[in-house]
Formats: sequence, structure tokens, C-alpha cells
Amino acid sequence: MEKNEPIFEILHMPPENTNSVLVSQNGNAVIFDAWGHTEDWEKLLSERRLNLRAIYSTHGHSDHISAAPMLAEKYNIPWFLNSDDKDLIIWGNSILDFFNIPRIESNHKESKDLRAGFRNILPSVQMQVIETPGHSKGGLSFYFPDYKILLTGDTLFRDSFGRYDLPGGDANVLSESISKLYELDLPDDTYVVHGHGIDSTIEILKHQNPYFVKRKCCHGEKDCRCDKKEHHCCHCHGKCDCE
Ligand SMILES: [Zn+2]
Ligand SMILES: [Zn+2]
Repeated sequence: MEKNEPIFEILHMPPENTNSVLVSQNGNAVIFDAWGHTEDWEKLLSERRLNLRAIYSTHGHSDHISAAPMLAEKYNIPWFLNSDDKDLIIWGNSILDFFNIPRIESNHKESKDLRAGFRNILPSVQMQVIETPGHSKGGLSFYFPDYKILLTGDTLFRDSFGRYDLPGGDANVLSESISKLYELDLPDDTYVVHGHGIDSTIEILKHQNPYFVKRKCCHGEKDCRCDKKEHHCCHCHGKCDCE
């Protein structure tokens, strides 16, 4: 039997706030950043006759996990989250109160730790997990090399970056993570889905997001302050070779 190509869909579950992504293929599905009410996801999955296989979260803020533990419980499937963000799960309940979404309780299904590496989310869909902390301690980005799709969570937005003033956030670490995404040197036509707001591509980010840059200078020094216009290197004070 010939395998169908996987379908990547961006969903805005009510109350609209976060970009959730549903990946489905041959009746199987996984959800990235299961925001919204659990019942809405259950309805959608049953209407489409999809078997939910796993849930992944880019980070532990409640607007990226609100339906994850309950769905994982209901379908008896794993929910993956970098364990450095575990402390945020209960901390974020006040945000759920604000949106009138049921709180996540400590007796709900626990998340499984997820770290950098390659894994198959569906039999023929490979994903690269990239650790991108800074917005939170356990921030992750997900790249699908065969489909040229990148999910950045709240690390990076189309024209800015996520907050770093929440618990576990760190401006320096966030800047390094953005630089790490830049240095992956993904193809310009890679489609980029952010945790919130309008999608972009690597090419759009290069042109429109002033923070999507290489942070190391031409001498490999962190925190590049080279004057690229005057070609003056911040490290050797000679000619700058930064792009
Ligand atoms: Zn967040
Ligand atoms: Zn968010």
C-alpha cells in the first residue's frame, strides 16, 4: 500500500491564542502545542477519525500545554516536554483561569522528558528536536527536514522574539538560542510556524527579523559587536569578515 504524504495543519483552537500544529498521516496524528479545551480536540479527532499517537510541547507555558495532559490520559499516549519546564506546568494555571480553561492538576498525566536529537513522530516523519532555551528553561524547536518545516514555539516570532522576563527566562540564553537556529542554516524556503502570530519562512526572518542573526563574530567570539557596515571587527579591531 502506498503511503500518503503527511499533512501539517496550523490550528487555532478556541479561545484563539496559540498556533497549534496537527500532523496526520494514514489515520494517525500527533499534536504540537495542544492549546485550548480538551473536548474541542476530542471532537476534532473523532470527526476526522484520527488516532492520536503523541503530543509534543515546545515549552511548558500553559498556552502551549492546556489540553496535553488530559488528552494524553484519555488516549493513553505519551506527552513530551523538556523536563526543565516541568515546574511551569502548575505555575501557569492562572493563565488558564484567565481564559476559562480547566486547570492542570498535579494528579494529571505526567509529561515525558524530551531532549535534542532525531526521532520519528509518525512511521515516515522524521523530526529534529533542537534545544532553544531562554524564553523558558526547557524551550524546544522542532524541524522536519523532509518537509522543510520549523516550529519555533515562543523562542522566535516573525518580527521579534518571546519574553524572557518570566520564570526560567534569560535574555542572553534566548539570544544564543536564536543564533543557534540561524546557524542551522536551513533552506530559505523553510516554512516557519511560530508559537503565536503570523507564520514566516527563513528568508522572511532573514529580511524582517533583526534578531535572527549569527551572534558569534568572525573570530568565533560570542556577542558579536562587529561593525558590519564599516567592516570593523569587534575582536581583532582589524577588518571584519562577518557576513
Ligand atoms: Zn511561552
Ligand atoms: Zn506562548
